[in-house]
Amino acid sequence: MNFQSLDFDQKHLWHPYTSTTNPLPCYPVSKAQEVYIHLSTGETLIDGMSSWWSAIHGYNHPLLNQAAHQQIEDMSHVMFGGLTHQPAVELGKRLLAMTPDNIQHIFLADSGSVSVEVALKMALQYWHNHAAKRGEVSQRSQFLTLSHGYHGDTFAAMSVTDPDNSMHKMYKGFLPQHIFAQSPACSQKVEGKWPEYDPSDLADFEIKIERHHPHLAAVILEPIVQGAGGMRIYHPQCLSRIRELCDQYGLLLILDEIATGFGRTGRLFAFEHANIEPDILCVGKALTGGYMTLAATLTTEKVATGVCDGEAGCFMHGPTFMANPLACSVANASLSLLQQNHWQSQVLTIENHFEQELPLLLTHPKVKSVRWLGAIGVVETHQPVNLEIIQAKFVSQGVWIRPFGRLIYIMPPYICQPEHIKALINAIRVAIEDDDCFY
Ligand SMILES: *Cc1c(COP(=O)(O)O)cnc(C)c1O
Repeated sequence: MNFQSLDFDQKHLWHPYTSTTNPLPCYPVSKAQEVYIHLSTGETLIDGMSSWWSAIHGYNHPLLNQAAHQQIEDMSHVMFGGLTHQPAVELGKRLLAMTPDNIQHIFLADSGSVSVEVALKMALQYWHNHAAKRGEVSQRSQFLTLSHGYHGDTFAAMSVTDPDNSMHKMYKGFLPQHIFAQSPACSQKVEGKWPEYDPSDLADFEIKIERHHPHLAAVILEPIVQGAGGMRIYHPQCLSRIRELCDQYGLLLILDEIATGFGRTGRLFAFEHANIEPDILCVGKALTGGYMTLAATLTTEKVATGVCDGEAGCFMHGPTFMANPLACSVANASLSLLQQNHWQSQVLTIENHFEQELPLLLTHPKVKSVRWLGAIGVVETHQPVNLEIIQAKFVSQGVWIRPFGRLIYIMPPYICQPEHIKALINAIRVAIEDDDCFY
């Protein structure tokens, strides 16, 4: 990429959560291979972000490339209305084999946000039909969720994303109002053990579910790890208690595993830490190993029947690129690789490094706390980072880490070797020693 291209980018292309009139600099990438991102300017960076949780096997993987090449020879895409194909069927089988037995129906969506929209619509349509059978109108139009949650950037997903701590604050007046309960305190597993559970963690949640349940269609949350809304990790017993409360009040539980799914937290799905099962499950991000956009909303026989058993006779949703064969084929290759690669030991190796090395950063006065689970490591600082300066600092040290606010966090590809993890943590140590990197 030459200077003119960068100049065009800066003048005309929006980047995520970035000004288009006064943008921060972007780094041009020419190639990515295994855990490395190669810049056109010559630097090679160790990737600490997995391109936002997705590139779990690293980049340019021969098996994923092969799956894409082969599929392109047959067909890149055909509509899913009235047609079907082997890549979708195979993906469906793989997803059912990975999830609890009661999960039986899969909606293939084109991004994480869409899979959340689909989950929320399913819950609303389920209760609509439920009420209509009794000749009533459903009163269940609200969702209960947690503060510090993040569920995506589209309108319904935004409406259940923390309105006060998130980037969506300014749309608040345009969004339906849902119920937000205080998020549980951060909890840390050490040497394989969680600390004792404090039931007062859910005091606010218990009050709100009791007060609002007649108007609730579902509870929606990110299990165990809250991602973009604060990189918080909470006690699995909170999640089991929430499952209990949903059962007690007859509410559906929607789990958003878009960030946590496919091994990231040390379990295939984060809800496994709590030994519970969702009614509706959203997956995305790592589903195709970071190759292309694909997500899925999975649900039980009971919910699927409830959704379709009404005047509409079907679920009212159908994206143009639903079940895109190219994306499904790469997802199949990625899920097959996940098993071959012994992801559990890969993630455990990363977790062990976090456990040994992140607490050492606590002695630094700029560090407020550190936390980790599986292949997720977080350093929370007292002051917000100066993104432009800290980004340059990381690049000059040969790593790619993209912090936000007071959070410096890494979720590297599972194929990271100990020397890569050490380099990433060391780069964080060097950055927090530099006052210029913080406001
Ligand atoms: C990224 C993310 C989403 C949104 O997914 P997109 O593919 O960006 O639309 C939703 N929920 C969680 C937990 C996420 O991390």
